[in-house]
Amino acid sequence: MAGRIREEDIAEVREKTRIDDVVSQYVTLRNAGGGSQKGLCPFHDEKSPSFNVNPSRGFYHCFGCGAGGDVIDFVMKIDGLNFGEAVERLAEKSGVVLRRIDDDGGDHRPKGPQRNRLIEANRVAQEFYAEQLATPDALTARQFLSERDFDQAVAAHFGIGFAPREGEALFRHLRGRGFTQEEMVEAGLVAVGRSAYDRFRGRLLWPIRDASGDTIGFGARRIFDDDRIEAKYLNTSETKIYKKSQVLYGIDLARREIGRSSQAVIVEGYTDVMACHLAGVGTAVATCGTAFGDDHARVLRRFLDDRDGSRGEVIFTFDGDAAGQKAALRAFGGDQNFASQTYVAVEPDGLDPCDLRIKKGDEAVRGLVADRVPLYRFVLSNVVGKYDLDRADGRVDALREGARLVSSIRDKSKVDAFSRELAGMVGLDPDEARAEVRRASHRRPPEPGAQQAATTAPAPPAEPRRNLPSVADPRFDVERETLMLVVQHPMTIGRLSSDIGPDDFTHPVLRAVWELVAAAGGVGAGVGDAGWATKLREATDDPVVASTISALAVAPLKKSPDAAYVTGYLLRLQERTATRRIADVRSRLQRADPADADAFNALFGELAALESHRRHLLDQLAGPA
Ligand code: ZN
Repeated sequence: MAGRIREEDIAEVREKTRIDDVVSQYVTLRNAGGGSQKGLCPFHDEKSPSFNVNPSRGFYHCFGCGAGGDVIDFVMKIDGLNFGEAVERLAEKSGVVLRRIDDDGGDHRPKGPQRNRLIEANRVAQEFYAEQLATPDALTARQFLSERDFDQAVAAHFGIGFAPREGEALFRHLRGRGFTQEEMVEAGLVAVGRSAYDRFRGRLLWPIRDASGDTIGFGARRIFDDDRIEAKYLNTSETKIYKKSQVLYGIDLARREIGRSSQAVIVEGYTDVMACHLAGVGTAVATCGTAFGDDHARVLRRFLDDRDGSRGEVIFTFDGDAAGQKAALRAFGGDQNFASQTYVAVEPDGLDPCDLRIKKGDEAVRGLVADRVPLYRFVLSNVVGKYDLDRADGRVDALREGARLVSSIRDKSKVDAFSRELAGMVGLDPDEARAEVRRASHRRPPEPGAQQAATTAPAPPAEPRRNLPSVADPRFDVERETLMLVVQHPMTIGRLSSDIGPDDFTHPVLRAVWELVAAAGGVGAGVGDAGWATKLREATDDPVVASTISALAVAPLKKSPDAAYVTGYLLRLQERTATRRIADVRSRLQRADPADADAFNALFGELAALESHRRHLLDQLAGPA
């Protein structure tokens, strides 16, 4: 294969190759009038198409980034090939036989086998493996397929094969077809130890193809118990033609449908891709032994059509377990522009598309995809779901964490809609949510670090007792003042204290003090006991609680504690508790399903009772004081 390609042959390749055919393997093109076609540029990020192809002139040009040239330039650029490799590739497709001329030795042929030899070796290997699937040795492989409702025709459609257990079968086959050992190794099919051996042995194989349909590698599943390689799946390792960060299983079958429907479905495995396609979800693809990353997103973008400025939908299917949710967060932490067009389809029973199709049929698979929810909403409801929304502090924490997430959305046009959703989930007023989101965005680090914040946002519900507000905070005035009375003047409060309970104290340390009082026999136990404060203090092991008791014992009261003063504090304490409970019930009402009339009415009844109780307390407060 040495030597320079003849100019006449290069011209013939240009002539016989339609540039729009080649480009549309990577970019969804639409007619732009005047014999031109346009699509989203694969070489730079853009929202509206400025990438133009003129088939009659055989040229492409992007008005956005200035990339342009003929079909050979395009293939060189998009697949990272040199000139000779790009010509070879196009020649192969258009049936042009390249003849080479030896010249002065100044040619720059690439080291190692030519790309087309690697493609050819993989093509021959795929045919070989597919034939092996019919042999007696492949019984287990065929059983694996039939257990999943994949018949012979389906296996043939997807090109599935079987790698014989004996370790040199493919090696001998390829050698018989004239491939060198170097070509087989570089194609990822054969490895060399003491001698050459097949990479895949005794496994069920899926050919992994690029968008144009060329086989570039394989995914191999373990099917024999005595397989010495434990890994359930093996994939071709990185080669000149197989880049695992970019390959998407099924893209050759899905790309047209992805372009047509402007939607791509990402599933987790080869059998899931098959199940989806058979069920009528022709846009399904899967990564091959690696997490979905930015490179995969870039590949998909080329195919997703641009509709009215929206970039289409990318739907991730998850089986609803914690791993799936983690994967969602990972997807969320990546490319933010991509995240806003990202959706999640979760199967409530935890079935992947393959199992779903077996157990519930094709319609269920289509339904799974149809019931997708935006990724942000999915993550947001996971975050909010960690908190007890029946409690005021739970709602505050849920709002704060949810707001941090919403404020990380770069697509500012969506922030308001998500703030409203957050408010609905937590059961709060939308204005409150908007205000919290604004506060959260001010707390955010400046742009470069901003992306990180999104990844770390859904932290576990921060241990609520770690960072306590100060007991001296004004919002605890009433609780603190009441406990000062309890510790310093138990007699004045005496029998009135029967109306107080631990729920009246929202600060955990103050609540702990009250619980010590109750455990000691109630406020009455302190009457006439000079060592009352000391007794309470010694009853706790918690140094924070102990020192708080000392502080309560020495802090000056606002005035000398007469009956009106004491009653006033006790009423205010109870009024605050009533107010909190009213907010709790209101929030539950906002989240309740109005269709459940009984539950709805019960909540309304509870609300009315609480409001009347609170009014009563307020009347007493306004009274004789
Ligand atoms: Zn461009």
